[in-house]
Amino acid sequence: VPASRILILGGTADARALADTLADRSDLHVISSLAGRTQAPVLPRGDVRSGGFGGADGLGTYLSDAAIDLVVDATHPFAAQISAHAHDACAAKGIPYVRLERPAWHRQTSDRWQSVTSVAAAAAALGPGETVLVTVGRQELAPFAARTDFTVIARMIEPPEIEVPAHMEILLARPPFSEADERTLFGDRSITVLVCKNSGGEATMAKLAAARTLQVPVLMVERPAKPPARTAQDAAGMVDLVDEILDHDQG
Ligand code: NAP
Repeated sequence: VPASRILILGGTADARALADTLADRSDLHVISSLAGRTQAPVLPRGDVRSGGFGGADGLGTYLSDAAIDLVVDATHPFAAQISAHAHDACAAKGIPYVRLERPAWHRQTSDRWQSVTSVAAAAAALGPGETVLVTVGRQELAPFAARTDFTVIARMIEPPEIEVPAHMEILLARPPFSEADERTLFGDRSITVLVCKNSGGEATMAKLAAARTLQVPVLMVERPAKPPARTAQDAAGMVDLVDEILDHDQG
């Protein structure tokens, strides 16, 4: 039986973990796809391609050309466009589409969270004079750059592409972060509010524990809707789902 060809849509640690796990399997050929936005991405094992496909149609053409048998969408919970494209391209080509999606964070009783539906809504909800810790990623800073009546400390892995205004400070750091370090950051900088995305996962969860302990309010940007799909919560669960689907197809 020829190896089944799997496309992993990546850009997340979970996608990398899955590719690394599957790399030694002789019955599978794994190709990871990255959007190509990050200068120095940590690469998964196995084949890697980079850059957009050109919408759902372009992705459909790629799926045919590369003879893909199964698409695992392991993109970030906030990457809604690529997921919609992948769902549609797979439907058009009759290829199974599954999603690797870590669970969202849930509010605990002592949390002071307010849910918002977008990063722009979070920026609009901030009062003047706040000192805001923003951890929404370097591509979504514009709404905070536009408001100059509060102080912004924006943390990200790689520097932003926008010109950084005077009221904004950039902190470059790569997760995971410890709760003790997060508490120190909140205290040293007198953070009065945290803005973050409901990304889920352990690596960036400590800021929520720090906010809870210090009773700092959180503006939580909730996840956009993604298309319906069979879903696994972690790489191990996805290995089982991949095997189930490929066995079924071959049987
Ligand atoms: P998006 O809005 O859903 O996608 C925008 C476009 O980027 C897509 O239409 C597609 O271009 C291209 N693209 C996205 N992911 C791709 C992939 N894995 N392989 C090839 N092309 C891809 O995505 P985004 O929110 O800008 O995120 C971009 C990447 O960063 C994703 O891979 C995501 O997993 C990762 N990421 C995102 C966030 C976040 O908060 N959004 C956080 C961490 C990591 P074409 O239409 O030309 O195919």
